[in-house]
Amino acid sequence: MQKLKLMIDMDGVLTDWDALQVPPAYSKHKDRYPGVFRELSPYPGALDAVKRLQSSDKYELFILSTCPWQHPSGLADKQNWLKQYFGAGKDNPFYKRTFFTHCKNLIAGDILIDDRPHKNGAADFPGRLIYFGGPDFPDWPAVLAELL
Ligand SMILES: [Mg+2]
Repeated sequence: MQKLKLMIDMDGVLTDWDALQVPPAYSKHKDRYPGVFRELSPYPGALDAVKRLQSSDKYELFILSTCPWQHPSGLADKQNWLKQYFGAGKDNPFYKRTFFTHCKNLIAGDILIDDRPHKNGAADFPGRLIYFGGPDFPDWPAVLAELL
């Protein structure tokens, strides 16, 4: 059976964006705070969820996240975050499987898990959109119950 291409957003899905405190000067543009993408904690349950999705053999996992336009080191920080939590080499489920773009609608996946359904093309993603944090999928256990 062919595996489904499962695209996973990072901020607010894999990382606990809302939990990170930044200095008041950055409160309106948290994404511009230097190092913000290094300091994020994993979203509760996210690391275990990725392991379970990978070992299910139902899905090919990919990252589909934005590349911070106003924060040049953000792209490297995001890649390093993935290495820190999932491994630096081929054991990492996202090894050489990352898309960083504000045009998520152009990526031909089967499923996208994203917490901002109306931003960065997510609403026009060609596959199924799972609205993470929404009423049907408030957290990772709810997503796993649907996908596994
Ligand atoms: Mg997000």
